[in-house]
Amino acid sequence: MQRTGNRNQNSGKKTNTSSKLTSLRTKRPRFCGVWTLQGRARCPHAAPAPRRHAIVPSRRFLRLRCRCWACSICGPRKANKYRGQILRAVTRHKLTRMLTLTLDVRKFATREQQEIFFAHLETQKALGTACQCATCTHLQAASVAYIRGCWNKLRVSLIRRFGVAPKYVAVLEFQQFTGMAHLHIVIDRFIPQAWAKEAWQAVGGGQHVDIRHADAHRIAPYLAKYLSKEMLLSGPPGMRRVTTSRSIKLNEKKRSDYSWEVCRASIDRVYVFFSDIATEAVHSDGELESFAIRE
Ligand SMILES: [Zn+2]
Ligand SMILES: [Zn+2]
Repeated sequence: MQRTGNRNQNSGKKTNTSSKLTSLRTKRPRFCGVWTLQGRARCPHAAPAPRRHAIVPSRRFLRLRCRCWACSICGPRKANKYRGQILRAVTRHKLTRMLTLTLDVRKFATREQQEIFFAHLETQKALGTACQCATCTHLQAASVAYIRGCWNKLRVSLIRRFGVAPKYVAVLEFQQFTGMAHLHIVIDRFIPQAWAKEAWQAVGGGQHVDIRHADAHRIAPYLAKYLSKEMLLSGPPGMRRVTTSRSIKLNEKKRSDYSWEVCRASIDRVYVFFSDIATEAVHSDGELESFAIRE
């Protein structure tokens, strides 16, 4: 099979956090979708009993995607996938309390930075977007690490108070006007508002804690409305956006029926080669995403 040529396509330069934040959200990395994943069916006897006699195509080809949040194709798909996984986890683990933790910029910015930040905030409110000047971008990037640190400390306080580690799913989001990171957390237990406020203050977060409660059977529809694709996409590209307690696994991986390898050719080219015997072709966003062959 022929190579598609240009090796430089894949050499993504490392960028620092602040330039990631200012990067355009609608960009699609040049290497996204260029190569193909080829899967060969494992030995049928190795498959679990119910599947042993199922007719599995002998080979599958998938378009190899970049899976970046910033990618215009992979970002929305990833957001959808996470959204489904979070909603299932919420029902399964009865995460009925929603906690929103916001940062006070005064807790981690110098006096000069604060003055610039608050001055720019006034103008940004009218524009409806976060400021992208050097100081504000720096603060926005710093807020991610800072809020994670505060949340880690708060979890220690929660363990001390309740005696066990709470189950939770946390989603990192950037606020629209300030660009500051904040955390939306769905958690499995009742936390008194006054205690949460005091504890969040004690770990250096700030004064604002919002706690909501929904019935176990109502939380999923409630969250579904709240946890939009846009919200998941608003987070800073290149950072972990969804974190969970150890007890919750969002992405339970099944053993694949195939063993996969990267094939350095485009899926369209591979498809031409196998067009006579290709089945189960799937198209998405106007491109061939996958197909299978039986040999
Ligand atoms: Zn992509
Ligand atoms: Zn600014």
